[in-house]
Amino acid sequence: MRTAILWFRRDLRLADNPALLAAIAGCERVIPLYIHAPEAAAARREGSAGRWWLHHSLAALDRTLRERGSALVIRNGDSLATLRDIAAETGAPTLLYNRCYEPAAEARDERIEQMLRQNGLQIESHSALLLNEPRQRLKADGTPYRVFTPYWNAVRRHGFDAPPGPAPAALPPLPAGVRGLALDQLGLAPRVRWDQGLAAQWTPGEAGARARLERFIEGSLIAYLADRDRPDREGTSRLSPHLHFGEISPQRVVAAIEQAAASRRDEGSGRNAEGYIRQLVWRDFAHQLLHHFPHTEDRPLDARFERFPWAHDYAENLIAWQFGDTGIPIVDAGMRELWHSGWMHNRVRMIAASFLTKNLLIPWQEGARWFADTLVDADLANNTLGWQWVAGCGADAAPYFRIFNPVSQGERFDPHGDYVRRWVPELAALPARWLHQPWNAPQPPADYPPPLVDLRATRRRALDAYAAIKR
Ligand SMILES: Cc1cc2nc3c(=O)[nH]c(=O)nc-3n(C[C@H](O)[C@H](O)[C@H](O)COP(=O)(O)OP(=O)(O)OC[C@H]3O[C@@H](n4cnc5c(N)ncnc54)[C@H](O)[C@@H]3O)c2cc1C
Repeated sequence: MRTAILWFRRDLRLADNPALLAAIAGCERVIPLYIHAPEAAAARREGSAGRWWLHHSLAALDRTLRERGSALVIRNGDSLATLRDIAAETGAPTLLYNRCYEPAAEARDERIEQMLRQNGLQIESHSALLLNEPRQRLKADGTPYRVFTPYWNAVRRHGFDAPPGPAPAALPPLPAGVRGLALDQLGLAPRVRWDQGLAAQWTPGEAGARARLERFIEGSLIAYLADRDRPDREGTSRLSPHLHFGEISPQRVVAAIEQAAASRRDEGSGRNAEGYIRQLVWRDFAHQLLHHFPHTEDRPLDARFERFPWAHDYAENLIAWQFGDTGIPIVDAGMRELWHSGWMHNRVRMIAASFLTKNLLIPWQEGARWFADTLVDADLANNTLGWQWVAGCGADAAPYFRIFNPVSQGERFDPHGDYVRRWVPELAALPARWLHQPWNAPQPPADYPPPLVDLRATRRRALDAYAAIKR
């Protein structure tokens, strides 16, 4: 009987999983495997919030495998050594997996493929994580896109592949004697329970992803373009952590969104669907940028920014930002939402990132590191793109002089102050007029700090710094 090792990585799902479909089509025995790999060459380890998510997502994957007659084999150790061990223990001649695109993960996979092929294993990899793989959409001259709109136009011209297919109803049982660790042995779940806020908001796993998509299609999709910038409303899908861990396929998301728009048949639904799919394509764009420009993980795409005069001795300001104690309501609301729930609204991510890099002149890498540790959707490609975009040093950079004013942004996108009231209860009693600038209120609340910096003066300072590197 032919045996396949099915190596799960960022594809923690059974539906629309091309490596799984290929495994059951070609082999009578399948070993679903997850390796918790400590090696430096592996893709970045998840941050604290990501580890929490991963724990629950692996538990969900194991449950769905067991419902179909199989189970997840969990091992801890160097990926190559573990794969060799399993192949030797079971006599499996075939390894299947879905490709990852972070530079370290790609380098690891290339090395593993090479070594295992030398050992006589047959290796098959598939595309499952993105709508378009990084090498799939290049400019006519064969170079990668650095600007989103032409990339989007190229993607749109080609259209999208159909989702690969539903989860198999049954799976072959695990070969006898294949043993793994208990999930708890990986130590992903926190020992001290700080995760109640996350648990209240999220359901990691494939079923949670599907439910989230359905809720979005039934609810916010119809007003996505109008509401996607409003942190006081549930205007977006909140699918980002599910997509990061591969609990749902982006092709499935596109198909469901297009189908919903087609069934509603009005022009507005079509525009909202298109607007949503465009955001999903930003995710592909971020992955192709990191793939083609791997140094941007911690260095600016725009090399002029290597000379940017960042602040020194910023430790105290950084801590105030991290814990939502800056005295700028919309920034503090966002940072507290992040700390509590592991997620922050996109508009507020931009405002908080702009405040850190422009008003505090703290290097974007510090902010990216904090987000990487605290976001449940922390994703190297998306996070790098987001931070470099806001700092002005990345692809599609906003012009350097466009510095978000957190007061006017708050007044525009949280006009009644509901978002700030929810996350900054010290301000809850203030009238909406003062909510985004409590320092100007006739009686500023005594238990809320004054602004950490003067917004106007620090804006000027940032503009001077940008002018200096432009020269
Ligand atoms: C400083 C900064 C850091 C960020 N870090 C991350 C991160 O670590 N992980 C992450 O997934 N997103 C990141 N983003 C992008 C964006 O904020 C989130 O993807 C979005 O808020 C997720 O919420 P949603 O699923 O409700 O989005 P929706 O509006 O429902 O969008 C649907 C999907 O499209 C993708 N998407 C949307 N906007 C973007 C974008 N700007 N860039 C790339 N993909 C996008 C996401 O996968 C998202 O789930 C960051 C943005 C900024 C400004």
